[in-house]
Parts: sequence; structure tokens; C-alpha cells
Amino acid sequence: MIDLAKYNALVNELGNKAILVAVSKTKPLEDIKALYDLGQRDFGENYVQELVDKASQLPADIRWHFIGHLQSNKVKYIAPFVHLIHGVDSFKLLKEIDKQAAKNERVIDCLLQIHIAQEETKFGLDETELASLLMDPSFVGLTHVRIRGLMGMASFSESQELVRSEFKTLKSLFEKYGKERGWSILSMGMSADYEMAMEEGSSLVRIGSLLFGARDKKA
Ligand SMILES: *Cc1c(COP(=O)(O)O)cnc(C)c1O
Repeated sequence: MIDLAKYNALVNELGNKAILVAVSKTKPLEDIKALYDLGQRDFGENYVQELVDKASQLPADIRWHFIGHLQSNKVKYIAPFVHLIHGVDSFKLLKEIDKQAAKNERVIDCLLQIHIAQEETKFGLDETELASLLMDPSFVGLTHVRIRGLMGMASFSESQELVRSEFKTLKSLFEKYGKERGWSILSMGMSADYEMAMEEGSSLVRIGSLLFGARDKKA
């Protein structure tokens, strides 16, 4: 069950400081529709097949954010309609997105994912990899992708200090590499840590369980 009062409170709290992406993975169409009817348009999904299925059955003006780990061979399925791909973590993937975007005669907005957490299981680039991707000589040839900023996931930790320092790291990379490039999106913060993420300069929060209730284990 989704909590409409919580949604309204969250929208008020975010104001115009951060974009709210409602993370609807594993949740049914009715839940998405309920938020849509309240005016929510940005939704996030982690699995390609699930996203494609949902998008085909829901209003066309939804802005779909792909926030999961994207495999190159699956880019083609979401390239026709995806609004923003958050988890780009290799030049190979970026090239494939560029290729599929060109086929669809569009430019796809992307965020580069930075590994800020301590857990090895979270994906993303370190600073050296970020710099070398941005300096890659063939980067300028990718005319059908546009890097809009960075995305990161903090450690799943009780330590507020640790989480805050990870957000600070991400924010400083965003400033360092993004100023001259005109980046505008810093995607950081989830249900458990979005308030701190906003204090540290997030401009987009990805919120699932707080809105839609807890998920089954899988996700
Ligand atoms: C699932 C997920 C979220 C939402 O997590 P909640 O804790 O339910 O808010 C945000 N970002 C990413 C990348 C996710 O995979």
C-alpha cells in the first residue's frame, strides 16, 4: 500500500531543492498510477524487463529513470523512451547508449555512477576512472549521449559520519568535474539517508520504500 500523506509531506519537504524520483521497482502498476494521479511524473526502475513492461502500460508522459546496473546488451530495449540513465559506469556502456540513442534519433541523458560506499558490491567508478572516461579521446564523438552529472549510493551503515563523508566525496567530485561541463544533476539519497544527502548538496533523491512500503528481498 502506498502512503499518500507521506508522499505529500515529502513533496513539500523537497520543495524545489531536489527532484523526487519515486523508485517503483517490484511495485505494481496501481501504486505507480496512484502517485501519477497526484502529479508525480518521475519514476525509477532497476530491471530492464520490468521497466519495459511497466512503461508500455502506463501514461506516456512518465519520465522513466533507469537506476539499476545496466548491461550493454540490454540498452536497446530502453533506448527508445528512457529519460535518464543513472548508473553509467564504463566507457563501453556509454558507447552502447550512444549507438542505441542514435538509432532512435535521440540524445539520452546519463549520470556517471561513482563508487563511494565501502561495500564492494556497489557498482561505480573511482576518481581515476571518472577522469579517464571524461578525457577519453573518443568521448567527444559520442554525440547522442549527454552527461548531466553524477550518481552514488552511500554505505548501508549505522554510522552517520561515514555516510555523510561519502556524500561529501561525491559532491566534491561533482564540483570538481562538473563546473566547467555544466553538470546540473547530483543524484544521491534514498529513503534512509535523503535528508542528509540534501544537506550535502543532492539535487535528486531516489525514494522507494518510504513511499511504497518495504519490498520483498529480491530488490
Ligand atoms: C532501490 C533503490 C533505491 C530506493 O531505495 P529505498 O531505500 O527503497 O528508498 C534508490 N536507488 C537505487 C539505486 C536503488 O536500487
